[in-house]
Amino acid sequence: MSIALQSPDYIRAISPYVPGKPITELAREMGLAVDKIVKLASNENPLGMSPKARAAVEKALAGVERYPDQFELIAALAERSGLAQEQIVLGNGSNDVLDLAARVFLAPGRSAVFSQHAFAVYPLATMSAGGACVVVPAKHYGHDLAAMRAAIRPDTRVVWIANPNNPTGNFAPYAEVKAFLASVPADIAVVLDEAYNEYLAPADRVDTLGWIRDFPNLVVTRTFSKVYGLAGLRVGYAAASPEVADLMNRVRQPFNVNNLAIAAAVAALDDHAFLAESYDLNRRGMEQIVAGLKHLGLEHIPSHGNFVTFAVPDGAAINRKLLQQGVIVRPIAGYGLPNHLRVTIGLERENVRFLEALGTALR
Ligand SMILES: *Cc1c(COP(=O)(O)O)cnc(C)c1O
Repeated sequence: MSIALQSPDYIRAISPYVPGKPITELAREMGLAVDKIVKLASNENPLGMSPKARAAVEKALAGVERYPDQFELIAALAERSGLAQEQIVLGNGSNDVLDLAARVFLAPGRSAVFSQHAFAVYPLATMSAGGACVVVPAKHYGHDLAAMRAAIRPDTRVVWIANPNNPTGNFAPYAEVKAFLASVPADIAVVLDEAYNEYLAPADRVDTLGWIRDFPNLVVTRTFSKVYGLAGLRVGYAAASPEVADLMNRVRQPFNVNNLAIAAAVAALDDHAFLAESYDLNRRGMEQIVAGLKHLGLEHIPSHGNFVTFAVPDGAAINRKLLQQGVIVRPIAGYGLPNHLRVTIGLERENVRFLEALGTALR
């Protein structure tokens, strides 16, 4: 008998996460030069990292023989959010804190509720902890919060909400999210994943971290991978009530965030010029790509993130034709959207390359 069969059924039932295709991989496959390839597949910041963060990493290199001290980043996040330091849990990317929340609240015999087309890590984290997935049909590609409330079962312990959602870009207005929170029993954790929070228009933003006072079952997660441009360093965090944060810290690996990531994140928090530039670039690029998609006669799902999902006649075929031209976007058949593709907003010239390649692929 195979040793693999000794793993619990719920582990063997997991479908592996499929990341965006790395530039180097496409270069090998197609015999293309790396600098001829445009990758708009993983919602990375096209401006790279903040110069302040880069300088901080270079300085922190001097101390990599030491184990990391999380204090400075936790203190900086607590100060900015008005929360106590005991309420912040750092993660090796926010993926890590999603996993911690799952391990704290889920187990075989328990379930998690989330939306169809929601972020792929929710089923992964749920199933890794032995929990069952309750997938609620989406409404106009977004979260149907009323249906999600109705789908909560006696064994439900976690609700996952991505706002804005990836890969659809949908945004649930915060008044609706707050009403949802108020309707959910207080013994069910609601994880509000705000990986794209910094890309929201100022008028759409609210202080969700402040809601934790009234809703101790709320866990808010944020990341340095998107607007802060630190995806490769892996750093994110959760904010929660002190008792929930304490439990998450018990199952957290003690040194899950490395010295360079901590230093970069602290510096990136203060680089307001870089953040503003990243936000503006995304606004302009979104207009450029949406106009281009319309010009090509393609429907898109209005997005509140740094990416946009659009409909094509045949997702796999168009994706192949884009790859042949050195353009990497994200096929999302795994999200139940086989005839949609997701493109990350890039630099102006990258967006032009993408739109030209897409026009060619459609012919
Ligand atoms: C990108 C993303 C994350 C964060 O990923 P990390 O790099 O692990 O921080 C979390 N949630 C959603 C919805 C995302 O798209």
